[in-house]
Amino acid sequence: MQKGNIGVTTENIFPVIKKFLYSDHEIFLRELVSNAVDATQKLKTLSSMGDFKGELGDLTIHISLGKDTVTVSDRGLGLTAEEIDKYINQIAFSGANDFLEKYKNDANAIIGHFGLGFYSAFMVAKKVEIVTKSYKEDAKAVKWTCDGSPEFTLEDSDRTDRGTDIILYIDDDCKEFLEESRISALLNKYCRFLPVPVAFGKKKEWKDGKQVETGEDNVINDTTPLWTKKPSELKDEDYKKFYRDLYPMADEPLFWIHLNVDYPFHLTGILYFPKVKSNIELTKNKIQLYCNQVYVTDSVEGIVPDFLTLLHGVLDSPDIPLNVSRSYLQSDSNVKKISTYITKKVSDRLQSIFKNDRKQFEEKWDDLKIFIDYGMLTQEDFYDRAKDFALLEDTDKKYYTFDEYKTLIKDAQTDKDGTLIYLYANNKDEQYSYIEAAKSKGYNVLLMDGQLDIAVVSMLEQKLEKCRFTRVDSDVIDKLIVKEDAKNEELEAGKQEVLSIMFKSQLPKIEKAEFHITADSLGENAFPVMITQSEYMRRMKEMANIQSGMSFYGEMPDMYNLILNSDHKLVKDILSDENASCEDSIAPIQKSLDETDSRRKELRKSQEGKKDEDIPTAEKDELSSLDKKWDELKQQKEKVLADYAAGNKVVRQLIDLALLQNGMLKGEALNNFLKRSIELIG
Ligand code: ADP
Repeated sequence: MQKGNIGVTTENIFPVIKKFLYSDHEIFLRELVSNAVDATQKLKTLSSMGDFKGELGDLTIHISLGKDTVTVSDRGLGLTAEEIDKYINQIAFSGANDFLEKYKNDANAIIGHFGLGFYSAFMVAKKVEIVTKSYKEDAKAVKWTCDGSPEFTLEDSDRTDRGTDIILYIDDDCKEFLEESRISALLNKYCRFLPVPVAFGKKKEWKDGKQVETGEDNVINDTTPLWTKKPSELKDEDYKKFYRDLYPMADEPLFWIHLNVDYPFHLTGILYFPKVKSNIELTKNKIQLYCNQVYVTDSVEGIVPDFLTLLHGVLDSPDIPLNVSRSYLQSDSNVKKISTYITKKVSDRLQSIFKNDRKQFEEKWDDLKIFIDYGMLTQEDFYDRAKDFALLEDTDKKYYTFDEYKTLIKDAQTDKDGTLIYLYANNKDEQYSYIEAAKSKGYNVLLMDGQLDIAVVSMLEQKLEKCRFTRVDSDVIDKLIVKEDAKNEELEAGKQEVLSIMFKSQLPKIEKAEFHITADSLGENAFPVMITQSEYMRRMKEMANIQSGMSFYGEMPDMYNLILNSDHKLVKDILSDENASCEDSIAPIQKSLDETDSRRKELRKSQEGKKDEDIPTAEKDELSSLDKKWDELKQQKEKVLADYAAGNKVVRQLIDLALLQNGMLKGEALNNFLKRSIELIG
């Protein structure tokens, strides 16, 4: 028996491994089974090249549980005593402490850095044995034992069969790894698609109401998963079935893309566009990353472009440096190439479906939209490809490419400055009457009700030439697209004011909403009253909701315009009726108001340009008392008008109708409206 010290420069590395890598303990199983797979694959290669002439036999890798042991057994090429010395005993830990300190939370980085796969066994074991016999002729079987100190022993073994057993004596604080269910779950996570059969215990079956073991090995993996096969040999059903295996709870996918590259890097995989039932379901980290069929991670950020992390499926590449930290990954040139390649593949596939089967593409657009929008918003090179197949949907459920849509609206929707105005709605029902008004004017209205459409609108305004997006309810129809400078006769200022005061006084209080009331000549056939919301303010608020650092806008109330149509008979009637009923009380108030105001103006004019100390005190006093008087008179006038308006059912009915049209009439106000309506009918 031989004794020796493992070649570690840091005195005792194992407690360190254990301490720092606590959260990732479970990967020991992946590392050991991967080693077993490697040893098996190497033997197969030797055999196929004629360098190994014996029988390969059954190459299944077995995982077995003892009372306090976990054993991984393979029938691969085994190790000679010299090889153990070379590959297991000599590990160079230069600068180990610094590195461990830096990457203490990243077991992959540490294992990769030190080539530490085998030693990860010490994360869970207090003692490890290797019992092995090399495939080489005349090789002696050996047993290596190490208890986690730098000391090991190496002795002869009576093993007769070729291959290796790695026996872990599980540490007291890692007893969970002695549970069948825990190991079973880990094998399913890490080993499900390994290329060599891996068996864990025996298959079970139900007999007489009990589960009993059969004689057959319980192989837990699929050694030739779908992505390793030739796309030409696969049918749609195969892809769908594989998807169901991966995501048993998900709906059928929309499309899939089978990736297969050999140069300049190796990459295989299948990416699926999932069907997203609701926005909430949109989750990242569904793509699984494999390295030669060994599961590595399901967080692929940095490897695939951000927007593609919304896809599902598997990627397998031996060229992605898996055992390194994330920040390193992002600067790796292979990874960058892979990311560019995947983007291109995805857009090529979408482009070809669009070209060859536009009908199908349109049918699936609602589900696809979120991916394509996200891609266009976050990835310049994807926008450049997607702009030819991304679609715009109008409120009649027709679909157009960006170019097609431009051609469609160019004639009717270019304003006097040559800007193309894209009209949109984000809710077909709520904005129904505005959409109808626009359509009857020969305009087309887009439906922009997607989760990302607020941002898409801004993006398109920047990308498309000389254009502006405006929501269909952001102004009265004649002002949505201004064709020539307005020459509408305006209502005289006095009447504007009267209408404004009356309607303001009767508006129910709505939380976080403010109204600006104006009168405008909109034509006899337009609605007597309507509510609009300026595009700019609304969009600022919407952006504030999705972007941080804009909360100033988010907290502001919503600003609406209540627009009275001065051409409409009902509005004209209100004005003439008001005049008849209020003239007598208002005339004297108005006279005083006018007198007060002209005296005020006179005084202000004479004070113009004078320094404060040069103005006589008496004059200052007079001015401030005039201001006060004016305010009082104004209030009196407003009161007369408000009292009148309160008794005018048409004023209140019109306000309520406008609110109702915009879904803003609720609670008591809605109830009052209903009662008043019934009265008015009767
Ligand atoms: P790596 O696998 O990254 O080289 P490991 O520490 O996991 O590093 O293993 C070191 C070496 O030990 C391997 O390269 C291999 O030569 C040998 N080895 C480990 N496990 C086995 C096994 N089950 N059968 C044969 N050789 C093995």
